[in-house]
Amino acid sequence: MEYLNVSTASATGNPRNKTALKPGRSLMDWIKLTNSSTNLSGNGNRLRDISLDELAQHKNKNDAWLAIRGMVYNVSSYFEFHPGGEEELMRGVGIDATDLFDQVHKWVNYESMLKKCLVGRLRTDSMLPPVKRPQSKLAVCKDLSMPPPFPSLSASSAGMVTTDWMQNLTTVTIVLYTRQKGLDARRISTSIDGNVFHTRIYSDDWLRCFDYQIRLAEDVHPFCKPTVSLTTGKVELGLQKKQIALHWQKLGDLEEVIQGFQPLGQAPPFFRRSVLTRKSRVNHNVFLCTLTFPTGQNFHVPVGWHVQLKLCLEDGTEVIRSYTPITSTLSSCETTDCPSISESPTALHFLIKIYANGPFTSALDRLSEGSSSIEVSNPIGNFVGSQLEGKNLVAIAAGTGITPLIRVAIDVLRNNRRVSLLFFNRTQDDIIWKEEFRELELKYPNKFKLWHVLSEPDDEWPGLRGRISKSVLATTILSEEYHDVGSNFACVCGPSDFTLETLRLLDSAGYTQETVHAFSG
Ligand code: NAD
Repeated sequence: MEYLNVSTASATGNPRNKTALKPGRSLMDWIKLTNSSTNLSGNGNRLRDISLDELAQHKNKNDAWLAIRGMVYNVSSYFEFHPGGEEELMRGVGIDATDLFDQVHKWVNYESMLKKCLVGRLRTDSMLPPVKRPQSKLAVCKDLSMPPPFPSLSASSAGMVTTDWMQNLTTVTIVLYTRQKGLDARRISTSIDGNVFHTRIYSDDWLRCFDYQIRLAEDVHPFCKPTVSLTTGKVELGLQKKQIALHWQKLGDLEEVIQGFQPLGQAPPFFRRSVLTRKSRVNHNVFLCTLTFPTGQNFHVPVGWHVQLKLCLEDGTEVIRSYTPITSTLSSCETTDCPSISESPTALHFLIKIYANGPFTSALDRLSEGSSSIEVSNPIGNFVGSQLEGKNLVAIAAGTGITPLIRVAIDVLRNNRRVSLLFFNRTQDDIIWKEEFRELELKYPNKFKLWHVLSEPDDEWPGLRGRISKSVLATTILSEEYHDVGSNFACVCGPSDFTLETLRLLDSAGYTQETVHAFSG
């Protein structure tokens, strides 16, 4: 499954100045168009490098390109769908519209919204090509007492990251001058696997990342505690020498590295080893699986984000699926701030449904505790928690689609706001954590409202029946008591048809791109 933020669209326009869209030009219609075979980029899906001069030539409504964060999009088909109006969108056409876009709604995931419009990569000084083994200062050995060199202006102004290293008797410190303001330890992920040291640094808005990987020249203990300067973005990664007092002649050999930050969606995934330390049944076909990491791993999964799990099948094929980590119980998520997925995770927990003909889950079904066949990627996502600030949550989930909504819902409850959860399942036996949700309802009688809707109920079922529909919404989240678009934010997750239908209904109830996030299945 893949994640998609469809709560998006306005590439530059101000959401407060909305334009009435023509019939057939709603968010849903745009999603349908992008899911169709229509060629929206006009380039036959072959991406290429585009200069600022070339970008400037595509500045007419019927031939309109714009660039956001280094990527160029053909938005000619998007004008009629743009809620901020055609004029607003024209402001960004023919230019690098990143600043305009950020002024209005930086969090919007244009990458999924405009993915079919992608023409290529903007060629500017800040988007240098990938290099292998760059000539860096890494080969120079320094003592800690020596001040680090100031990164050159040309490099820092081009958004690049300069590197350095130093050592004393016990420690080797890798220094990355990112020049990114607002970095904190949560944005630094590290991995030490034998002699291979990997780090990924996420930008302050989590939209871009910098990857650095090196095969170290000498042995280190598998432990790294990053320190970050909030104001300068200088990141120091301290590694403990295994052989104290050994003077390293060089740091090591750089593996493939991009010199600067790149859009998260374009960064190759990085996987770390894990051991399946727990596999326990939650219901007849859902397992709670715990993956534990060897020491030396350090990463944080933001609320609403997921990881990819990679499993090598018996025939050697690799299968990758996305899953959202949760805590091992609903109540522990509520009381302990998800300790297992904070800065230094030792383990991640997943609710995984076994599908008889699903290659990944049926292979997982055959794994026993102790297996080390699963690798786990760095966190991926586009959900921005700040969208929910000051809002009540309307969560609409189907089946295992509840998983990404759990941490989001708990976060909202803990911030003393209201959560209304509409949870669709086939039968009572399929409901994940039914009792735990009941306890949450009792604990927060005025803050947490839950409706179960079953599509294949038995005769005894006293609750709501059917699938997602206008009438189900009308008696639940769109009823007078709960329907307040101005103070609600809606999150949707389930099978893709379910998600599309829910979005269509929310769209006609007044929810907009700015007030809905869909995790696509
Ligand atoms: P399921 O097949 O058991 O169905 C659960 C309920 O979904 C049904 O009772 C019904 O109400 C509704 N539903 C199913 N198909 C529908 C359709 N075509 N139209 C309208 N409603 C429909 O669900 P499952 O097997 O647990 O699957 C959950 C889905 O959620 C999967 O597709 C999975 O990929 C997705 N998912 C996505 C994420 C994410 O973060 N993107 C996370 C977890 C699960």
